[in-house]
Amino acid sequence: MERNLLDNKIEFLKGVGPKRAEMLNKELEIFTFGDLLFHFPFRYIDKSKVHKVADINNDQIYYQLVGQVSQMQLHGKQRVTRITAQFHDESGSIELVWFKGLKWIKSRFEPGKQYVIFGKASVFNNRFNIVHPDVEDYLPDIIPIGESLEGVYSTTEKLKNIGLGSKQLAKLVKNLLGQINQAIPENLPQNLLLTYKLMDRNMAFTQIHLPSHLQNLQAATRRLKFEEYFFLQLNMLLRKRQREAQMKGLIFSTVGELFNLFYENYLPFSLTKAQKKVIREIRHDLGSGFQMNRLLQGDVGSGKTIVALMVMLIALDNGYQAALMAPTEILATQHFQSLKELLADMPVKIALLTGSTKARDRKPIHEGLEDGSLQIIIGTHALIEEKVKFNKLALTIIDEQHRFGVAQRARFWEKTDLPPHMLVMTATPIPRTLAMTQYGDLDISIIDELPPGRKPVKTIHLYQSQRLRLLSFMKKQIAEGRQIYIVYPLIKESEKLDLIHLQEGYESLLRDFPEPEYRICVVHGQMKAEDKDFEMQRFIKKQAHIMVATTVIEVGVNIPNASVMIIEHADRFGLSQLHQLRGRVGRGADQSYCILMTDFKLSADGKKRMATMVRTTDGFEIAAVDLELRGPGETQGTRQSGPVGLKIGDLVKDEKLIKHVRAIVNQLLDDDPKLLKEENQITRNYFLAHFRQSFDWGQIG
Ligand code: ADP
Ligand code: MG
Repeated sequence: MERNLLDNKIEFLKGVGPKRAEMLNKELEIFTFGDLLFHFPFRYIDKSKVHKVADINNDQIYYQLVGQVSQMQLHGKQRVTRITAQFHDESGSIELVWFKGLKWIKSRFEPGKQYVIFGKASVFNNRFNIVHPDVEDYLPDIIPIGESLEGVYSTTEKLKNIGLGSKQLAKLVKNLLGQINQAIPENLPQNLLLTYKLMDRNMAFTQIHLPSHLQNLQAATRRLKFEEYFFLQLNMLLRKRQREAQMKGLIFSTVGELFNLFYENYLPFSLTKAQKKVIREIRHDLGSGFQMNRLLQGDVGSGKTIVALMVMLIALDNGYQAALMAPTEILATQHFQSLKELLADMPVKIALLTGSTKARDRKPIHEGLEDGSLQIIIGTHALIEEKVKFNKLALTIIDEQHRFGVAQRARFWEKTDLPPHMLVMTATPIPRTLAMTQYGDLDISIIDELPPGRKPVKTIHLYQSQRLRLLSFMKKQIAEGRQIYIVYPLIKESEKLDLIHLQEGYESLLRDFPEPEYRICVVHGQMKAEDKDFEMQRFIKKQAHIMVATTVIEVGVNIPNASVMIIEHADRFGLSQLHQLRGRVGRGADQSYCILMTDFKLSADGKKRMATMVRTTDGFEIAAVDLELRGPGETQGTRQSGPVGLKIGDLVKDEKLIKHVRAIVNQLLDDDPKLLKEENQITRNYFLAHFRQSFDWGQIG
């Protein structure tokens, strides 16, 4: 039933018609009855409460006020850019502010008349104001008494222009619920509803749109979130189980000579507990007979490289080849050099293959990979070119995963009969909620401990006006033998402009740090690979004191003597990028510093990012704030195929619920792997209809 009715085109809903339907399609992606049903209110107005101005004491809360508007002022030089007005009731007054729709606002208010305004209080110049409040004429008998929550729906200017503001959308939803008339079928097993006290589905949809009171709204929200996470986890866990059942993996039965030789003689330090734990988890996968698909998370500097090496040695011990792929030439080269050094006295053949490997060097590499004599290959995308053939590739490690798409990863599979084991390493800590939803089908290992003896990086936020302080600090650090990074943002759309910033910065540095006393090198993304490499080498060999760079140095670069990271226009970077950049220092024995340079004027968001960086070095905490500020779609470390597209779930707040639901789904699948039991039919059918038309149940279990 549901499919038929909810699949109806929105055009056919009472009050819509073809023209409005077209706009609903375009503006809100509402195509069907079902789409509208899932267009939930994003907040609720409690019309039962009218506050007094004097009650306002919290800048997170929405207030409904009744009073008059006076003292309207137009601001701006040539044209009006802002309007302010005083709103007052008998308890006091508060400023209202508008930046948009100014023409309309100018003539909106009549003196002496009463208005109902609704909006979020914010603090400005130590006083509360309300920006862009909703305004309505005050009609005393419409302010209802008692509990009455009214849903507010997101809409757009274009929709408002054709009479589809929030109120009208609410009316359409009401029509819809009337027409559906309690015919939305349940999709969760009855016993789950009982055990976890979940509201039934019809009631939940009614209550989320038209709550009769707060408790019902909360119960409806819980039910619909539960449902959303339930099917998401079902999808993830079915995929995972399918892979585990289907994907025969190459079995690495022994941990042999090379691993032991390295462990006993060449490991330059003792492994941290976390590194040991992770290696154990990986070894278990490799011996299991199933293909490994594991995500290795470890904050910058936590020592993932050595883990990668030791896992590769296990592959070699079993007669196989291993590949390590990095997203940039700089990183690949660096991995190659450090691994070559670690393996210097070991009987292991290792090579580097990147886009700039010369043709004559390529040939022996291709041959070595094909005849199996070359055991470890490090490289960039060049590794997945068709020409590259392996003799016995059994393990692929991908570093700094978020630069690679899923499709690129899969191309390794074409190079072998059985799919190679995959280890994806990322230094972007992924909040647990994201990991469970977006990576729910991968196994996850976490290195949650840094090698001993590291001093946390000191982070300082300075304004441009404090640059003199910065310069003297830099000179002092250089005098002590340290090296300094200065990073400029480089964002695609304005690449040219950013390069100008970098050039100007470089030139003014030359004045403050003249040669030959000081040496400065420059690295940015638009340089030729060999020039980049030349400049990098100058810095690595300590021939330069300062490296001016764009974010090409963001990931992986490891130069322990560099102890100062200066980030220019720091507010133009996202949190995870700032965290990555900071991770470039603090790698040696000296106290390291990260200095965030910004203008004095910062957006609220920018301020929060700077404050977060100054407050903590914990990658997971930073990732959580990042998620909160930017939402799951924007957060680094998300899958390139896009965010999970939650309708009601909130990855910032729902960690406990997601965990809970994941466990419930696992239990359900243990008990009934293909959901064949009578009581699970509705769930199975819903899943098939909505999630995976082509899901092959035959492969499960
Ligand atoms: P990342 O996880 O960011 O890739 P790396 O693998 O580059 O980190 O390691 C960072 C630094 O820490 C390297 O210089 C490495 O040699 C060192 N290191 C790694 N593990 C340990 C350890 N257990 N004890 C001491 N130093 C370590
Ligand atoms: Mg690394």
